[in-house]
Amino acid sequence: LRYDSYDGSRASEDESFDNARRVADHYSARSNQTLEEREASPIIHLKKLNNWIKSVLIQLYAHPKDAVLDIACGKGGDLIKWDKARIGYYVGVDIAEGSIKDCRTRYNGDSDQQQRRKKFSFPARLICADFYEVRLDKYLHDDAPFDVCSCQFALHYSWSTEARARQALANVSALLQPGGTFIGTMPDANVIIKRLREAEGLEFGNSVYWICFDEEYSSKKFKSSSPFGIKYKFHLEDAVDCPEWIVPFHVFKSLAQEYDLELVFVKNSHEFVNEYLRRPEFTDLMRRLGALGDGNQDQSKLFCSMTLSVPLMMMM
Ligand code: SAM
Repeated sequence: LRYDSYDGSRASEDESFDNARRVADHYSARSNQTLEEREASPIIHLKKLNNWIKSVLIQLYAHPKDAVLDIACGKGGDLIKWDKARIGYYVGVDIAEGSIKDCRTRYNGDSDQQQRRKKFSFPARLICADFYEVRLDKYLHDDAPFDVCSCQFALHYSWSTEARARQALANVSALLQPGGTFIGTMPDANVIIKRLREAEGLEFGNSVYWICFDEEYSSKKFKSSSPFGIKYKFHLEDAVDCPEWIVPFHVFKSLAQEYDLELVFVKNSHEFVNEYLRRPEFTDLMRRLGALGDGNQDQSKLFCSMTLSVPLMMMM
């Protein structure tokens, strides 16, 4: 395992830098949960469902010996999924130093939880960097090209400005090999805007999550505003409390095309679950993860908030 920090980011005090810092500080400060704490989490079924979605994506698109770039890898919660896919090499990048440290601990098997588990079968490199700000092609020259680039539940953090959204896609495009695959998940802008329109004010949610827009983004003004920088505050109990940005999917799709990324499919989480739960191997996985809720009121509320994710897959 190589671990290094690449701070090539613009050290400016502008708003986008502040926003990126806020996101990084939020995730850096989140401590690792014990197994007991995790099981007691009010969003445990949502977490398990999200893990199921990521596992299905990885099983569908990663192949043995693949070189994988995990963008916004967080604390390395997906390392086991990549191991099961028998990948050959892994590079994880995240802006949050605390998360990269936890990811290193998890990879090295230092934590109590991991001690019982065998070492990962692939070599890995972990980098602390702002993937949406810095050109990483030269820095990752010796590691690239990658067969798979993955960005799970994090691509929307690139949408604070057009420049950042472009840098994210430029990095993916430069690092992915021709014919390589990009897989990702992000909130479904259609669902968020629909709920905002149905809401009385600029805020909506339930007992486990809320989303709040600033006055400047009252629904009436959405049509005329730029597709970048549409900020909302997202709070998810026991998980997230920081600014995020709306990603209008049609804009994302055409911007990606500019960087030679062709859309293969996009599905809302509900569609994704309905489609892949039919396949016996993924039904078994859902059962093993315990991701199927027992249908009580709280859990069905959680399943509502789960619709904010869009798994997508691109082919270069
Ligand atoms: N991908 C992981 C997963 O699915 O468990 C983590 C998802 S977490 C919701 C979002 C992650 O995005 C955080 O770890 C955060 O630090 C990372 N992130 C946000 N902005 C980033 C950026 N500009 N560059 C790299 N990572 C970023």
